[in-house]
Amino acid sequence: MKVLVINCGSSSLKYQLIDMDTETLLAKGLCERIGIDGKLKHEAAGKDKFISEAPLKDHNDAIQAVLNALVDPEHGVIKDMKEIDAVGHRVAHGGDHFNKSVLVTPEVKDYITKYIELAPLHNPANLSGIEVCEKLMPGVPQVAVFDTAFHQTMPEKAYLYAIPYKYYEQYKVRKYGFHGTSHKYVSQECAKMMDIPIENTKIITCHLGNGGSVTAVQGGISIDTSMGFTPLDGIAMGTRSGSIDAAAVLFLMRKENLSVDEMDRILNKESGVYGISGVSSDFRDIEEAESEGNKRAALALETFAYRVAKTIGEYVATMNGVDAIVFTAGLGENSGSTRQLICNYLGYLGIELDSYKNSLRGQAVEITTKQSRVQVYVIPTNEELVIARDTKEIVEAQA
Ligand code: ADP
Repeated sequence: MKVLVINCGSSSLKYQLIDMDTETLLAKGLCERIGIDGKLKHEAAGKDKFISEAPLKDHNDAIQAVLNALVDPEHGVIKDMKEIDAVGHRVAHGGDHFNKSVLVTPEVKDYITKYIELAPLHNPANLSGIEVCEKLMPGVPQVAVFDTAFHQTMPEKAYLYAIPYKYYEQYKVRKYGFHGTSHKYVSQECAKMMDIPIENTKIITCHLGNGGSVTAVQGGISIDTSMGFTPLDGIAMGTRSGSIDAAAVLFLMRKENLSVDEMDRILNKESGVYGISGVSSDFRDIEEAESEGNKRAALALETFAYRVAKTIGEYVATMNGVDAIVFTAGLGENSGSTRQLICNYLGYLGIELDSYKNSLRGQAVEITTKQSRVQVYVIPTNEELVIARDTKEIVEAQA
């Protein structure tokens, strides 16, 4: 079975075509600047990289360009679009309705529409990706895989905010959590690497990219996570503040006479390690500035590590112990120095990093010494593979 995985953003679209009989990646690519001008970068195993700058005025153009690239005689990997058996879509917000991936039906689309108010930047693009695929590939099953679904197992005490209960009842204001597909994948991989049934494990997964979240995975299910009602909450991020006293936000709005939209922009786009360092949102730039003696860059990195370490501590308490900690995503997979800064705070867990293993890149590896009481792993995430696996399972169950 060949599954096309689509991750549709407002102006970008990532895709992979995976042969699910062997879990082999056949082709992958990225459409950028949709609605601005357009760029498609396409890579297929054993073929030259293909780049097109043909205009992409909307998601319809982008998905059509992807299908054209996949069937192209030179850089394509299939002869006919009909070889695509199913499409799996990443969908940001499934509210409290979806605790697992589902086959797309008109009712599912209604729910994705309903949750636009919870994810105004992402759900409209995700829905548009689904609708374009339905149009261009009539009859091909579409599956929705939600970023929030894995966290639906959190108990009430973890997801409720201590505000008047009526706001939860009326508007569903509560913690949802994100990056669920990634936390699920790396926790399962970690249990396999530990060779322990996942039901018997307590794992803390740290997805550290531009956005970042930390999750307590007990017995294979999410019991708490650092992102909240929106992806702004939790640890500090590239440009997002993470948790902040809500009264500080009110104070700033009053002092600087800021509108809701202005404050929203400051918290989402001008804060985090970018806000503290004043250098960049990219950790590579901040690490470079720090090595050149920039004190605020050093402060940003230390503050970031301190907050991740504090969150890990919370989850050790929540689970009454921990067997393993996993680092994943752009920063978590690539920055040995960030992992070291975080683990410097975890001596009480008897964690000891092996500096050679901590310097390795691009592979799933345990990075602790033999004496370390808790194991720490780096596991490259693979959200597309999880989406394709869920899609295959759901489509086969229908057959
Ligand atoms: P997202 O999917 O949230 O956009 P990624 O998971 O791709 O983000 O992570 C991107 C971030 O990872 C970059 O902003 C950068 O800060 C960090 N990163 C990637 N490679 C490295 C590296 N070699 N060293 C330090 N940081 C890195």
